[in-house]
Amino acid sequence: MYNLNQSTRKLVAKEVEEITAKKLYSRFSKHQLHALLYIFHSTKGKNDKLDRGQFRDLLTEDFNMTDDLILDRMFRAFDWKNDSYITTDEWLPGLEVWIHGTLEEKIAYTFNVYDLNGDGYISREEMFQLLKNSLVKQPSEEDPDEGVKDLVETALKKMDYDHDSRVSIGDFKQAVQADNLLLEAFGTCLPAWPQIEAFARKMDQIMSKK
Ligand code: CA
Ligand code: CA
Repeated sequence: MYNLNQSTRKLVAKEVEEITAKKLYSRFSKHQLHALLYIFHSTKGKNDKLDRGQFRDLLTEDFNMTDDLILDRMFRAFDWKNDSYITTDEWLPGLEVWIHGTLEEKIAYTFNVYDLNGDGYISREEMFQLLKNSLVKQPSEEDPDEGVKDLVETALKKMDYDHDSRVSIGDFKQAVQADNLLLEAFGTCLPAWPQIEAFARKMDQIMSKK
């Protein structure tokens, strides 16, 4: 399925040389950089970039991520140049945070995912939307929104250190450092370890076909 033809191989080899010369994304081995770029170039569109649909397909297939709202926000978090396409210099750092990121980097990433309107705060409304979206519907409950509202208040109590009824990046950092489980409090947006291991095996397979 991955296109390892002569021109892609040449392109990837050149890119990996440039990246290692600049010491970028250095937490990946050369081997992994090759594989990640093969995946990118085999999936991209005619304009040499990944669009939203291509990105989603990759994440759904490799990381079993299927939540539309979160997937959309993940795309926006990767797309730091904010042009609605993913280029290699967005693809590689995004995956580096997922696979090798420090807690600090993961905090910045998940905050960015959860701040739906990008205003620098996770508001009550945003928490409500995220939690409602990620919870399994309980048909027996009379008013499921009530349960979500309670969760929002519990989350605010835990995370709103400066008491302004919203969660800033500072609040979020403090809360996650106190309790690491809060990192994905509003929905899964980082792949779990078994998925990362499976992805690493896939990278090895791609390289062994070279
Ligand atoms: Ca972009
Ligand atoms: Ca916000």
